[in-house]
Amino acid sequence: MAALCRGRHRWRRTIHFRVFTRNLTGKYDYDLVVIGGGSGGLACSKEAAQLGQRVAVLDYVEPSAKGTKWGLGGTCVNVGCIPKKLMHQAALLGAAVKDAKKYGWQISGTVCHDWPTMAAAVQNHVRSLNWGHRVQLQDKKVKYLNLRGSLMDEHTVKGLSKAGKETILTAKNIVIATGGRPKYPTNIPGAMEHGITSDDIFWLKKSPGKTLVVGSSYVGLECAGFLTGIGLDTTVMVRSIALRGFDQQMAALVTDYMEAYGTKFAWQCAPKRVDRLPSGDLQVTWTDTQTGNEHKDTYNSVLWAVGRAPETKALGLDKLGVKLNKKTGKIVVGADESTSVPNIFAFGDISEGRPELTPTAIKAGKLLARRLAANSTELMNYDNVPTTVFTPLEYACVGLSEEEAEKRHGKDGIEVYHAFYKPLEFTIAERDASQCYIKVICEQGGDQRILGLHFTGPNAGEVTQGFALGFQCGATYSHLLQTVGIHPTCAEEVVKMNITKRSGLDATVTGC
Ligand SMILES: Cc1cc2nc3c(=O)[nH]c(=O)nc-3n(C[C@H](O)[C@H](O)[C@H](O)COP(=O)(O)OP(=O)(O)OC[C@H]3O[C@@H](n4cnc5c(N)ncnc54)[C@H](O)[C@@H]3O)c2cc1C
Repeated sequence: MAALCRGRHRWRRTIHFRVFTRNLTGKYDYDLVVIGGGSGGLACSKEAAQLGQRVAVLDYVEPSAKGTKWGLGGTCVNVGCIPKKLMHQAALLGAAVKDAKKYGWQISGTVCHDWPTMAAAVQNHVRSLNWGHRVQLQDKKVKYLNLRGSLMDEHTVKGLSKAGKETILTAKNIVIATGGRPKYPTNIPGAMEHGITSDDIFWLKKSPGKTLVVGSSYVGLECAGFLTGIGLDTTVMVRSIALRGFDQQMAALVTDYMEAYGTKFAWQCAPKRVDRLPSGDLQVTWTDTQTGNEHKDTYNSVLWAVGRAPETKALGLDKLGVKLNKKTGKIVVGADESTSVPNIFAFGDISEGRPELTPTAIKAGKLLARRLAANSTELMNYDNVPTTVFTPLEYACVGLSEEEAEKRHGKDGIEVYHAFYKPLEFTIAERDASQCYIKVICEQGGDQRILGLHFTGPNAGEVTQGFALGFQCGATYSHLLQTVGIHPTCAEEVVKMNITKRSGLDATVTGC
């Protein structure tokens, strides 16, 4: 114990000495230390290094409750956008194989999906991205440290290795980009013991089998979508509404399509407990919140998609007085990503009120680096951020939902143009296109500035990315009408819209 105390004093002396010398010389080990090597942290550190700063980035992955771990690159690369999109693609190919027969492809025998083949391919791709990130950091002269970072003061970071070894780094500026992790419900017996989350699903070596997805956020629906698409018996349990925060008419189209596609939905139901049966299966008990009746069913896997929590607890922010939002636990930031403590900045999923998306984290990180390293004054514009939900029928949008537009402008202050269209690809395949829909919400009057654009259909993200540029430039309904379509595409339906919701006319697109 005495030795331990002596050790502590020695360590304290070292810190004080460091702080003292730093104050005398004004020198730090680094110009910038970034905690978190995800989408945002990597972008920020690389940009700062390219601008001549001495930069270190700390990235450390705490294994999931199930023990899943992964490499450098954060959520997007390892347990988010990338493996999700690849598994979504696996599911789309399944649907394409069915279509292919109608297009003349002779496919003999039954077509079935092999999880281990898909998982190995996806995981190998992710590993190649992990490696690519390491190489990029090296090329750009960013020091990468596989350490868990916490703050000691506004210029000092403590890094802790897996083996418990401490490294102290000083920096002129510190950036926190530690993202978030999926939550488990705390009041459901067996939830954590027997369940998995999006931190595990992409790294499973064996098929999850019959799966209950609890939660209908975009993460829940996307996972349920690709599981259904590769042929697994999949149920989504929804307590209240699907895709909260998104336009609810569009959310209904997405879930209607999924129901027709084979995903089961347990609407207005709340899980009560999860038990492992002697067979190894999981028995889930839930309550129908409308009738109060209790139900049970067995599954091979239960995937919790009930939200994400920020990674702030282990960072030592309270000691430094970095202000957090008490409800969300996220870091309160200014328009310039500054926190309540000078020299400490935060952005990406860890920061309050920001979209939880990779492109916003990357862009915010680059702009912050330019402000810190190159006297730039450009701030991140968080308005008009487009996004896509990669469900079996993809949904993409930019701008306001109809509900939000009504709230801000009044029902009479907006004009909504809409169209139900049939993608040409669906015709020969005899696919149902009932949920392929476009909605453009405009300001009433004048040139009718576009307030929101919503699209369900094939390649929704690709379609909407282009329109997002127009949106950013202040596109109006008149601009849409002046735009010539590309034929035959789904996107051209956006520039052809002429039926308003107010008119009550049939919005089904007919003819070419
Ligand atoms: C299933 C899923 C699908 C998604 N799909 C999309 C999509 O299609 N499109 C999209 O734009 N976004 C998507 N996202 C969201 C996107 O992944 C995040 O918004 C993005 O990764 C946030 O970047 P970030 O830099 O803030 O944090 P992260 O990418 O989460 O990176 C944070 C890093 O910091 C590390 N870390 C945490 N604490 C410490 C510490 N104390 N010391 C050192 N390192 C630490 C973490 O391990 C992690 O590596 C998805 C997310 C999920 C979960």
